[in-house]
Amino acid sequence: MKPSTHRPTKAVINLQAIQENIKQFKKHVAKETEIWAVVKANAYGHGADSVSESIDTLVSGFCVSNLDEAIELRSHGVIKPILILSGIVPEDIHIAVNLRLIVTVPSLDWFKLVAQHLEDVEVEHFNFHIKVDSGMGRIGVTTIAEANAIIALADEIGANFNGIFTHFATADEPSQDKFLDQKEQFDTIVAGLTRRPTYVHSSNSAAGIWHKETVQDIERLGDVMYGLNPSGRVLEMPYKITQALSLISELTHVKEIAAGDSVGYGAEFVADKPTLIGTVPIGYADGWTRNMKGFDVLVNGKRSPIVGRVSMDQITIALDKRYPIGTKVTLIGCDGDEEITVDDVAAYRGTINYEVVCLLSDRVKRSYH
Ligand code: PLP
Repeated sequence: MKPSTHRPTKAVINLQAIQENIKQFKKHVAKETEIWAVVKANAYGHGADSVSESIDTLVSGFCVSNLDEAIELRSHGVIKPILILSGIVPEDIHIAVNLRLIVTVPSLDWFKLVAQHLEDVEVEHFNFHIKVDSGMGRIGVTTIAEANAIIALADEIGANFNGIFTHFATADEPSQDKFLDQKEQFDTIVAGLTRRPTYVHSSNSAAGIWHKETVQDIERLGDVMYGLNPSGRVLEMPYKITQALSLISELTHVKEIAAGDSVGYGAEFVADKPTLIGTVPIGYADGWTRNMKGFDVLVNGKRSPIVGRVSMDQITIALDKRYPIGTKVTLIGCDGDEEITVDDVAAYRGTINYEVVCLLSDRVKRSYH
């Protein structure tokens, strides 16, 4: 879907804030760790092409979720290393290798399948990292034997074992137990390898922030780079980050309804007095989900509640006075003394800040400054 450029709804991305958040993180870790920016899911909704371009000189590499996201980055001119964090379809290995992408090997079974599809592959450029399942329970090897069998097969086919990594399930939680358990599992597997690769890595944002002593050769930095606290409101950030994304629109329609008039699907909102209603062109097809009913937006620096159900393309809000068509509406961001953060939205929806930004659909145009 193409972004809707002829309507006022847009996500405004502060690229300088993203750059600053990376610099702050580097100061915080204060180690010779390479930063690999996690720009999967369209850079958490911030726009993978623009974000990767703007931070290229600050990072050593990029991480994406799948082959298509990696292809997008390469097509956009990214020449730095790109690690695909999930296993790809084995038959597609020639695409990944010929684009000089780094693939994740999630199991010996997967690697054996790949070994059957090497006809069009320049094997000397086949670089991979082994994924270890140290307790997340999704993908990855779980034993030293499996990891070493992958290394042996790589040597046989001529592929390059460059890295090994794991992913923590609870690095953003106050309790240390599961985190330490996973770290021990990972360290044990790494210690048992027939050889250590160039890159051993395990840190996401939360591990880098709250367990910085455990950061190894690469930090896979996602949420914090976008100015979001990976724990939501559970753990304090040790330094200040700047939220990079705002979401704004405009009033497209303003009218007064009489007591007894209803608004929206299901006629759920019924005015108990004459009420000024503004309409804003954003809805659940943009990622402004139906459960945002009752939440506030900012108009002229004042909080205005969403009344009636959220439709696919529009919401209706109660206004304190009659504003002209074209008046700015802030759904996420600052207006005057008021602010709505991504975490405010996440808390209202009962979800995490990651989901709020990732759900902003392609229909929402992105604007950069
Ligand atoms: N590493 C892996 C394997 C991931 O799946 C993710 C994100 O989900 C990250 C790193 C980045 O995590 P965060 O955004 O919490 O920094």
